[in-house]
Amino acid sequence: MVTVLDSAARPRHPEKAHRPDTPVLRKPDWIRVKAPGSPVYNETRKIVRDNGLVTVCEEAGCPNIGECWSKRHATFMIMGDTCTRACAFCNVRTGLPEALDGGEPEKVASAVAQLKLNHVVITSVDRDDLADGGARHFAEVIGSIRARTPQTTIEVLTPDFLRKDGAVETVVAAKPDVFNHNLETVPGLYLSVRPGARYFHSLRLLQKVKELDAAMFTKSGMMVGLGETREQVLQVMDDMRAASVDFLTIGQYLQPSRKHHPIDRFVTPEEFKSYETIAYSKGFLLVSSSPLTRSSHHAGDDFQRLRAARLAKLGS
Ligand code: SF4
Repeated sequence: MVTVLDSAARPRHPEKAHRPDTPVLRKPDWIRVKAPGSPVYNETRKIVRDNGLVTVCEEAGCPNIGECWSKRHATFMIMGDTCTRACAFCNVRTGLPEALDGGEPEKVASAVAQLKLNHVVITSVDRDDLADGGARHFAEVIGSIRARTPQTTIEVLTPDFLRKDGAVETVVAAKPDVFNHNLETVPGLYLSVRPGARYFHSLRLLQKVKELDAAMFTKSGMMVGLGETREQVLQVMDDMRAASVDFLTIGQYLQPSRKHHPIDRFVTPEEFKSYETIAYSKGFLLVSSSPLTRSSHHAGDDFQRLRAARLAKLGS
């Protein structure tokens, strides 16, 4: 899955082809994952395929896929497998996407029902080509899941909807339980890591979700090991708290290929623990900070903890 070229006819990352090769560093001992292939993993894979769906687990080459899919936890990536941005860290295919599949909301709802998910994470590629950035499609997916399995809680992990007026309002109006948008990295690295995005726009999006619906949980995440300093990470935490973000995730950046942004270093488990401690002291309701933390990793269990943390805070 982690490839730069799928075929000569259809390069996976055409914009990265000219980039210099950077050797992919060997992972340290603390980054070890469960191998894919258990019976439940295969069952999950079949349900995804039978419904004709795309997952970020596969497209991003996520290291946790063996563990997550063995628990039926697949994260659906809607609106196709092709992204209109070309972030330097991301393994998702870039190019001109196909037209939206009007049947996708039903397909996602059917897969959620078959997987018997208590909590589902829905993410998407960036769709800068659509007038609303795909916001209405997000809302339709939420609506279909609600209609089919009303007991399933829903978390969206959205693009930044840059220059898409009204998009965030559309998604919030569909009432997901958690609204996640990742800042990904510190502002000083946006130009090299996330050149198509704007740090303060992303931050403002998170703040706006809270303004629109103060009860909606907000979540945001960042990768470390890209070249950021500790002080910069702490500043991002402060920025997120200023935008009232409830839940912070921090994980190690892993380089998908030699053409992607190089890893600066592997952050140690002790440093992740220290980030967690500091983040709690800054007021986040929940923090997940570890080398293999990803936005959707353990999202269902974390949602329960998030709710409990809010109740405990309200009761204190
Ligand atoms: S961490 Fe998220 S993206 Fe990775 S395999 Fe698990 S559900 Fe999929």
